[in-house]
Amino acid sequence: MRFSSLGSGSKGNATIVQHNKTVIMVDCGFSGRSAEKKLLQKNIEPSSINAILITHEHKDHTSGIERLSQKYRIPVWTNKGTYKAINQQEFHQINFFSSHNNFSINDMKISPFPVPHDAKEPVQFIFTDGDKKLAVLSDLGKITPHIKQKLNSVDALMLECNHDSSMLEIGKYPRFLKERVGGGLGHLSNKQSAEFLLEIDTSKLTQLVASHISENNNTHKKVKQTVSQTLGCSENWINTVCQNNGIDWLEV
Ligand SMILES: [Zn+2]
Ligand SMILES: [Zn+2]
Repeated sequence: MRFSSLGSGSKGNATIVQHNKTVIMVDCGFSGRSAEKKLLQKNIEPSSINAILITHEHKDHTSGIERLSQKYRIPVWTNKGTYKAINQQEFHQINFFSSHNNFSINDMKISPFPVPHDAKEPVQFIFTDGDKKLAVLSDLGKITPHIKQKLNSVDALMLECNHDSSMLEIGKYPRFLKERVGGGLGHLSNKQSAEFLLEIDTSKLTQLVASHISENNNTHKKVKQTVSQTLGCSENWINTVCQNNGIDWLEV
């Protein structure tokens, strides 16, 4: 199994997970045209995508899905709450999953789990190819006991490191937005994410990728410093996803 990101941050998110011939896209917050370009840059033919999964309805995760789904006849997978929240979009085909039950797409097993975020029914996903486990975790205000349990012993993790708390506090956002981003239904700070890693079993973790990094309230340097100091590992071991260029393929 391998994974890659087309870009991550408040201007758009899209993750690609591939195992053999199965190609799955998680969210697409880039316009259809921009997503097509980004996919081709990573040597992914848009028509080879077997499914687009949706984590939640926010525009930075959904704005390009309708066009990609229609143009390339890609089935979309979501839960009922998120579907209700985005029902102005029409997809080539819609499939529903329950936020608590595993499902499969070809030879890939997918395990959704609920997260606390200010959307209708937000989830994140764990992918298993029968051998290795990859977790994608972003857009959540806090870590719950259920999330800790789900993410124990994963082999690869793409984890939100949204903001540095002091940069958010002294930054230019209006007070209500600072409270939303830093609150329990907002986004994880570098420190929250780093401390979460101390609380789960990371003995199998070979790939750690920091995502959804704020361009206003964080820097890639700060993410690497906070996580490496907390975990006692090298900064070089931590990958960070760029808003515009994403990251290249990583093998799990
Ligand atoms: Zn987001
Ligand atoms: Zn969101």
